[in-house]
Amino acid sequence: MAAADAGRRVRVYDAGHQGRAAWVAAGMLGSLGEGHPGEDALLQLSTASARRWPHLVARLGDPAVMAATDSLFVAMSSADAHHLGGLAEFVWARQPRAHNDLRAVDNVEIRRLEPAVTSRVHSGYLATGEGAVDNRRLLDRLQHAVRHAGAEIVERRVADLADLADLPEDEVLVAAGLGSRELVSEVALHAAKGEVLRLRRTNWSVPPPTRVVRARLHGRAVYLVPRADGIVVGATQYEPYSETSTAPEVGGVLDLLADATELMPALRTYELAEAGAGFRPCSPDGLPVIRRIDERVVVATGHGRNGILLAPYTADRVMALLDGHEEPVPDMGMTNEGVRR
Ligand SMILES: Cc1cc2nc3c(=O)[nH]c(=O)nc-3n(C[C@H](O)[C@H](O)[C@H](O)COP(=O)(O)OP(=O)(O)OC[C@H]3O[C@@H](n4cnc5c(N)ncnc54)[C@H](O)[C@@H]3O)c2cc1C
Repeated sequence: MAAADAGRRVRVYDAGHQGRAAWVAAGMLGSLGEGHPGEDALLQLSTASARRWPHLVARLGDPAVMAATDSLFVAMSSADAHHLGGLAEFVWARQPRAHNDLRAVDNVEIRRLEPAVTSRVHSGYLATGEGAVDNRRLLDRLQHAVRHAGAEIVERRVADLADLADLPEDEVLVAAGLGSRELVSEVALHAAKGEVLRLRRTNWSVPPPTRVVRARLHGRAVYLVPRADGIVVGATQYEPYSETSTAPEVGGVLDLLADATELMPALRTYELAEAGAGFRPCSPDGLPVIRRIDERVVVATGHGRNGILLAPYTADRVMALLDGHEEPVPDMGMTNEGVRR
């Protein structure tokens, strides 16, 4: 969309929904909450990209793309609270401004903010401005906006390197998720499979939380992401036995159902509308791979668990590369070597 907006003639070759991680995803714009020691560069990229999201939503002209504006991180025990506290300290140390956006909350405040969350919560953190998008609505609006900006969308798989070489276009951006491996041999990617559930609210159900609610139960991460008609529950993450099947595994679905209903007992009256799974396209160091391959080809992939969050950053970086700038996007303040790729 950014290229079409900039007046370039754009044709998108897309193999469709099947195997598209962005269709399966929960759509969290998890920046501060994704801050983990050792991932300084990712935290920097994520917070910079998160700041660009309101502009992207405004460009799409549909505020309902934004499904939530805040996230609540919930600890179920004092050990959990200690773990969350460590993550918050890391974020505050790296992003002093985050003191305004990430603050500790006690169990009384958690229950006041989200009454449907279990009364067994210990404490938590509220991340203001860290929300989520409805990813399927987003994809629909993006396709519409891309066409409206003059681009053509051709539903077809680009088979391999030879097929890519035969495309008539002068410049090519390969942004095909895990499929990028077949089109750019220089890029190393691995898959991290994940299950996600879509639960639909019934007439007898309490409303979904208004914020993203994230917790760890039984050593596993679980999150509830609100939608207009229910909740998205995510997500498992593991190395798959096979990369050919995106069918959800029974164990993953069971764990998500158990953890989600423990976190929000009233979910038992929701309908299980969909159980799905997808492959996150992961790079070896966890950072996106956005770089020029040769005079004709630019690649943007390897976004792992944060590809939706990182979309605005990726668009800016790709446009800079297409315009001949090899350096990072100026106001991203990147100094980390890994981010310069
Ligand atoms: C369970 C799960 C939960 C997630 N939750 C979140 C989240 O909450 N927040 C977040 O930011 N990210 C999340 N992600 C990660 C996010 O979905 C990915 O990082 C992101 O979708 C990657 O975008 P992409 O366009 O590179 O790949 P994809 O979304 O996989 O899209 C690739 C596209 O390329 C097309 N394609 C592939 N090969 C070819 C080819 N040869 N020719 C033509 N077209 C091709 C496909 O059809 C598809 O349309 C989640 C992922 C999973 C699996």
